[in-house]
Parts: sequence; C-alpha cells; structure tokens
Amino acid sequence: MKRAAVFGSTGSIGKQTLSVCREHPDEFSVYALVFGHNIEEGTDQILEFDPAVIGVYDEACAKEIGARFPGRNVVSGSAVNELAALPEVDTVVNGVSGFSGTFPLIKALDAGKTVALANKESVVCAGGLVRAAMQKGGGKILPVDSEQSAVFQALSAGRREDVRSIILTASGGSFRSLPYEELEKVTPEMAMKHPNWSMGRKITIDSSTLFNKGLEVMEAAFLFDASADEIKVLVHPQSIVHSMVEYKDNSIIAQLSVPDMRLAIQYAMTYPERIDCPAKQLDLTMLSGLTFEEPDTVRFPALPMAYEALKAGGSLPVAYNSGNEAAVERFIKGELLFTEIPECVAYAMERIERVDINDMETLLHCDKEARRMAYEFAVKR
Ligand code: NDP
Ligand code: MG
Repeated sequence: MKRAAVFGSTGSIGKQTLSVCREHPDEFSVYALVFGHNIEEGTDQILEFDPAVIGVYDEACAKEIGARFPGRNVVSGSAVNELAALPEVDTVVNGVSGFSGTFPLIKALDAGKTVALANKESVVCAGGLVRAAMQKGGGKILPVDSEQSAVFQALSAGRREDVRSIILTASGGSFRSLPYEELEKVTPEMAMKHPNWSMGRKITIDSSTLFNKGLEVMEAAFLFDASADEIKVLVHPQSIVHSMVEYKDNSIIAQLSVPDMRLAIQYAMTYPERIDCPAKQLDLTMLSGLTFEEPDTVRFPALPMAYEALKAGGSLPVAYNSGNEAAVERFIKGELLFTEIPECVAYAMERIERVDINDMETLLHCDKEARRMAYEFAVKR
C-alpha cells in the first residue's frame, strides 16, 4: 500500500488522482490532501478519503476547514509545502497549478520522495534548483503530463544515446485553423474549452495559445536531459498518440491511448508496475485516422519563444512562464486580447535581467519581475 500526498487535490489533476485512489483502495491510501481555496470540494474529499493531514494554502479557508473538522490536523500557508516531506508519505502527486508548484516539489525531492509530477511550471522555472534537490535528497520525478509520460515510456525501448529526437504531440488547441483576425476576437470563455481534454482553466488557455506546448518543450528538456534541437512538436488533433521517440535507425516508438489523464497519473503512481486502469481501452478499429502536421509558428509564436527561452536558459524561462501566467490573468480580466498574450510575454522576455538561477531568492525575484513587466505591458488600443 502506497501512502499518497495529493497536492492540488481540488483541481483537475487532483480529482483524477483521487479517482485512481478510489479505484484501487488496496494499492493507495491518501495520507495528505492539499488544496488552495475550494472548501466545498475539499470537505467532500476529506469525508471520503479521511486523510491524516490536511493542507489548505489559504489561511481563511484553512480556518473554515479546521472548524468543520475539529481535532483534525490542518496546516495552512506556506507550511503546507512541508507536508510533501512527511516521513509517512511514499508518493507525492504534484497537481498544483502554476509557479507555486515549485515549493512542494523541491521539499519532496529534498526529502527523497518520489514525485508524480503534473506541474510543469516548476521544472521550467527552477530546473537547476530542482536538480540540486534531487541530488541532495535522492528524490525522483515520474512524469504525469501525458506527453512526458509517453516519452518516458518510449525511451524504455532503446538507449538514450541512440535517440534522434523526442516528438511531442499537440492537439493544436481549439483555434488551430482560425485566421489571425478571428484569433483577435477569442474571448476567455471560448479559450476555456478544449476539444479533447477537460483540464483546469490556466492550462486550457495555455493549450489554445500553444504556451502549454512551449512549457512542455522545456519540461521535456529538463526531464530527459535533451537539447532544444532534439525536441520537435507535431500537431496531432486526435490526441491519441501522446508523444513519440525517434531512434537513429528511423524507428519511431509511440504511446497511444484514449485521452484520459488517469492513465498517466496511475502509471506515475504505480511505476514500474502496470495495473487495471479506469481509463477506457482504445478501440483502434474505431479511429477514423491519425494525422500529424507542423505547427503554425506565425499565428502561434509561443512555440518559437519557448525554444528561444530554452536555448538562453537562466531567467528567460522564468520570464516565459511567469510572464505568461500574468498575461493569462490579464486576458481573463479582459485587459488583453488573445493575440496580445504572446506580445505581453515577449515584452517580459525582452526586458528581464539575464541572470542564472542558482538560488531561491533569485528565482523569486525573477518571477516577481516577469509578472510586474507583464502587468506593465501597455496595450496599443
Ligand atoms: P486546476 O486549476 O484544475 O487545479 C489546481 C489545483 O492547485 C487546485 O487544487 C488549486 O486549489 C491548487 N492551487 C491553485 N493555486 C495554488 C496556489 N497558489 N498554491 C497552492 N495550490 C494552488 O489545475 P490542473 O489540475 O488542470 O493543473 C495542475 C497542474 O498540472 C498544472 O501545472 C498543469 O499544467 C498540469 N497538467 C494538468 C493537466 C490536466 O489534464 N489538467 C494535464 C497535464 C499537466 P483550489 O482550487 O482549491 O484553490
Ligand atoms: Mg500535456
């Protein structure tokens, strides 16, 4: 029986992680449940999973949870991140959204834990610090992001030095074929709908701008120690092939399944074992076709910008990520057009001080600066 700490339990990844735990009560128990604000969902989860420890980032929400569950161990504020290091915890699932996912990740790795990692913003912004924590504490990361899980599985087919390229697939988002003039009119409501996956708000918008794929290019570079030149992206609207690895002999190994995150979450939690999964079986005879095409980097500049950030390293990936987090917030508030999101991020990337990220203080400073710059970006209308 593995004892899990589920970070971001009230979100899309968190709820699907709990669905996996519900399906396999003999394999997993939920030792710690951690969420941000959603007290109603959190309350239902506490009643169902009876965790030994509850973490609520928001202080006021933590008080309310404490009142609803008198005598229970409720931790709040930044102390919540310490729960990732509890000796009783075997697996930490990191489904926190955004830059904040960096803190529990580093705590967990420092303490030698295995982390099923959905949060990609952490390894994009803090790759060096994350690697140092792994080396110091002996913790390891198993990828949850479906593309990285697919690559991880495909890499087991050969030797790393025989890999020619890592091919990440992208659904292309909802606006794959919209002309630029139409892209300008995309509203937050339109961007919050994804054709194939049901996900949290921020990642859904990132999927439609291709910032999600840009973050995944950098995530893959970190996870598989790959250079920018080794990572390619192909648009595959059916979301059946979750990613591929091409070897030197022209052989391509792909991982296929229905688009259901529970598969990748469960694999990261049971690795190297495979067990029955609540995700449906893929019926290959029902597929009408699998198509692949080059992404349109003119209408979707987020992708070339990610390669630029990856090649530069240091503070540029932080400007890319945190500039985008702030730009998405502004887009949701109606302050930016959809097409201004990449312009706003480019503004932050051009202006951020180019420094190496060797400590937490520098990381936090760059994150703050990138957000400030993204808010400073003035629209021309
Ligand atoms: P959601 O927005 O659905 O959920 C985010 C979770 O994190 C919620 O539990 C939320 O708590 C909590 N949270 C939000 N902000 C903070 C914060 N500042 N501090 C602590 N906790 C916080 O996101 P998703 O589940 O969609 O995504 C989570 C991560 O997984 C992202 O990094 C995303 O890129 C990645 N991912 C997601 C996929 C998906 O299918 N959803 C697929 C692949 C990767 P509350 O709501 O209670 O405030
Ligand atoms: Mg993904």
